[in-house]
Amino acid sequence: MRIAVAVKQVPDTAEVRIDPERGTLIREGVPSILNPFDEYALEEAFRWRDELGGTVVVITMGPPWAESVLREAVAMGADEALLISDRAFAGADTWATSHTLAAAVTKLGDVDLVITGKQAIDGDTAQTGPSIAASLDWPQITFVGKVRSIEDGHILAERYVEGGIEVVRSSLPAVVTILKDANTPRLPSLRGKMKARKLEIPTWGIDDLGLDPAETGLDGSPTRVVTISTPETSSDGEMHRGTPEELAAVLADLLLGEEES
Ligand SMILES: Cc1cc2nc3c(=O)[nH]c(=O)nc-3n(C[C@H](O)[C@H](O)[C@H](O)COP(=O)(O)OP(=O)(O)OC[C@H]3O[C@@H](n4cnc5c(N)ncnc54)[C@H](O)[C@@H]3O)c2cc1C
Repeated sequence: MRIAVAVKQVPDTAEVRIDPERGTLIREGVPSILNPFDEYALEEAFRWRDELGGTVVVITMGPPWAESVLREAVAMGADEALLISDRAFAGADTWATSHTLAAAVTKLGDVDLVITGKQAIDGDTAQTGPSIAASLDWPQITFVGKVRSIEDGHILAERYVEGGIEVVRSSLPAVVTILKDANTPRLPSLRGKMKARKLEIPTWGIDDLGLDPAETGLDGSPTRVVTISTPETSSDGEMHRGTPEELAAVLADLLLGEEES
């Protein structure tokens, strides 16, 4: 079983600054962490590798310093790591990001399952997983709260959707996106940390992936983040106290008052 896990390095802060010209995040010098959702994606991969045998390769697309999240994943238990980095990939939206990650999965070869986190805590689109599947033309199962089985070339999983749980069976290879709390991520082990410190991590750029610059990075992105602003918070709310009846009367007055004005 060969499982590829896509993980993202995200800013360890909500105070992000945007490059006014490119509409992209300024990531230089910002403390960054492994996207919290991706710890569950990694753990799911380790569980099935430990059960079925095989290897887990962790991949990330990002600037050179994104290598640190790969070493974190190796310390947790990943067997191999791959950095996908090139100036031509900078500023990518979800389409360009997924297209590039899919090209890396194809070049890796013999991948039976791609696992991603449900979403990243900065872009928050939850689009990358499904978009990787579309780019590879593979089936996908999103919002997975439990993988029941992987056998006979198929995966059986529970999708947690509004109003209930869908049980979905898909042929492999496939892409799944894992929900928070689908499992309990293991902590980095001493052996893992030692391996992570020594591991030579290859970097693949646009030439290695044979991609056209017109389909990567900012140039290859059909969408642009035009502005990002933190919503203004106002504290001029009114606090009313009283019995439920009294508060209901106050609320009615306020609402009716607004209607009359
Ligand atoms: C505030 C903000 C808003 C944005 N809005 C949009 C938008 O509306 N549309 C748009 O197209 N782009 C948007 N972007 C750009 C977008 O963040 C990047 O394209 C990003 O690489 C993928 O989208 P995401 O962050 O939403 O990740 P998601 O799609 O939420 O991530 C889901 C999973 O995909 C994997 N993954 C995501 N990125 C990577 C990566 N670089 N390497 C490896 N695995 C990865 C991880 O497993 C992650 O858990 C936005 C960026 C920011 C900072």
